[in-house]
Amino acid sequence: MANKKNTPINTITKIKALRKQEISVDTLTQGIFDGSQTLLAKAITLLESTQPLHYEKANAVIEKCLAKPNNSIRLGITGVPGVGKSSFIETLGSYLTANGKKVAVLAVDPTSSLSKGSILGDKTRMQELSKDPNAFIRPSPSGSSLGGVAQKTRESIILCEAAGYDIILVETVGVGQSEIAVHSMVDFFLLLKLSGAGDELQGIKRGIMEMADAIAINKADGSNLEKAELAATEFSRALHLYAPKANGWVPKVLKCSATENTGIKEIWDVVEDFVLSNRENGFFEKNRKVQNKNWFLQTVDEYIKQFFHQKESFKNAQMTLLKDIDDNKISPFYAAKLLLDQITKEL
Ligand code: GDP
Repeated sequence: MANKKNTPINTITKIKALRKQEISVDTLTQGIFDGSQTLLAKAITLLESTQPLHYEKANAVIEKCLAKPNNSIRLGITGVPGVGKSSFIETLGSYLTANGKKVAVLAVDPTSSLSKGSILGDKTRMQELSKDPNAFIRPSPSGSSLGGVAQKTRESIILCEAAGYDIILVETVGVGQSEIAVHSMVDFFLLLKLSGAGDELQGIKRGIMEMADAIAINKADGSNLEKAELAATEFSRALHLYAPKANGWVPKVLKCSATENTGIKEIWDVVEDFVLSNRENGFFEKNRKVQNKNWFLQTVDEYIKQFFHQKESFKNAQMTLLKDIDDNKISPFYAAKLLLDQITKEL
């Protein structure tokens, strides 16, 4: 989705002229370096394309972008639908741009192909921020698998950083596996929770609590304020039960109101404290390197799987063995070994 705001007139003219012909890798890269939102959006579209040639071109751009140094902070934001993620991003994003930062908002929504991207990253939900020339908002890529959607967002981060965005906000919805994917692409992971009934801790997945670097109780306003205090105390107590993190960080519990614009600065101060201490103790860089290596390994696994599943002989042998398993002729484990032996012999 092209975004024309913040794009110099001469760049727009160039883009129009180039529209009918293919835009070169160099033009795209230079446009991104110059901060053109239109060319940034175009590069992300190529990246998300299912056409191999588009993807190749996007990767040539990414390679050039990787070489450009930056000082970005990647912040993941999760929470169940209705907790106030988009309101929070709108308020936090506006706070950051008011303080001279450039903010990109990306999203990982594995259901976006079903909902047509209406859940996350939708501009109509962040009306102020979408008008802000220092903000770039991109809806979740669509895709048939979470892995595919997450990979595109992960790669878009690089492009946004090269375009000069200091803060990358990655939103995801608090259901399913998408939080794990987002956690593995950000520096800081923020869990938004609702103030309300005393049974806050029930129904919250343990793994998500463990991943959080901070929990913010949103909607801490009006008659909810007292309940928010209570929830904050309860979460602080629960967090103390977890083993300390390797980087020495003790997760924080905060309260905020996205609509009243309270507690937002305090949350950002915590993120900055975290970044500062993690840069000092070396964990910031180390974490990014570990994440990169994990993405590589995961993607290799994914490609190997795709490679085998696309082979006709693999599909046929699998069908035969499935039938044998159904007929109780062979154990599932030995069948798996036979299948792999047979296929690797063909390679
Ligand atoms: P999302 O589904 O997590 O993105 O949640 P939204 O940002 O769309 O917010 C869901 C509803 O909660 C909307 O009606 C918001 O106006 C409301 N809301 C969001 N943040 C706050 C808040 O801090 N206080 C109050 N009172 N309402 C809020």
